[in-house]
Amino acid sequence: MSCSKCGRKAIVELRYMGKCFCSSCFLRFFEKRFRKNLRKIGIKKDEKIGVAVSGGKDSMTLLYLLKKFGYNIVTISINEGICGYREKCIKFVKEFCKKNEIDHFVFEFEKEYELTTDMIAKKEKNVCSFCGVLRRYLLNKKAKELGCKYLAIAHNLDDEVQSAVMNFIRGEHYRTLRMGDIVGEREFEEFVKKIKPLRYIPEKEIVIYSLLNKIPFYSGSCPYSKDAFRRSVGKFINYLEWKHPGTKYKILSSIENLKKIIKPQDKEAKRCKICGYPTNSEICKVCEILQNAKKYI
Ligand SMILES: [Zn+2]
Ligand SMILES: [Zn+2]
Repeated sequence: MSCSKCGRKAIVELRYMGKCFCSSCFLRFFEKRFRKNLRKIGIKKDEKIGVAVSGGKDSMTLLYLLKKFGYNIVTISINEGICGYREKCIKFVKEFCKKNEIDHFVFEFEKEYELTTDMIAKKEKNVCSFCGVLRRYLLNKKAKELGCKYLAIAHNLDDEVQSAVMNFIRGEHYRTLRMGDIVGEREFEEFVKKIKPLRYIPEKEIVIYSLLNKIPFYSGSCPYSKDAFRRSVGKFINYLEWKHPGTKYKILSSIENLKKIIKPQDKEAKRCKICGYPTNSEICKVCEILQNAKKYI
């Protein structure tokens, strides 16, 4: 196998484009695509971006790339209180930020909510959805307080495509209609726009890129992540991709086509009676969880 660009020994084959790359041509290709995504989103170098970094390979790679290309970034990590796991992840983030002179802010569920994911897990089966609601709220709130114009999230192509297929199976089409490079387009002063610069990059290529650049990351997975449905959908899509290279990109462009045909019908936004944040119901999800906090303590 030789590189389609320079003829040297190839290290990777990208079947969806019928090309092989050596390591230096792969790195160049990867970075070019990343920068193109950012230009497409329309971010200027001086606009402040809060980067949500957990310490896993995707978020560490996103942080590395945004730093490398000179964006105005601060790192935000959330410690949900998952004993024996999150502290290990955050250690990688802390060391990387120190070495690269990036401001790093860590916010803890325990301090902010007087509640941890470990506490919720004792009573709830689907702890991930609770944890997700509380984490997203805090990321947004802190990014806003830090004066960020954007909040960068490290979702890759595989994550996006899995979500779209899961939404389709569950009939939650409105969720798919809200997917994109920039989300949170509903204009509220309280919301920071979320961007997903890795949305066009397959997970496998992020792994290769991070290894070639020796980007440090924590490789363990969350003890509560048992999303069996997502895993099955992921396996199914990987099988399709193997049989029919390009399937993942086709699903992604299907999302974009769908958005051109159907506009999401947003319900009239109300304001949470407790915290005042925009929400679709009387009380937002976060306040609902916190109201029931007694049952977890
Ligand atoms: Zn080459
Ligand atoms: Zn609320």
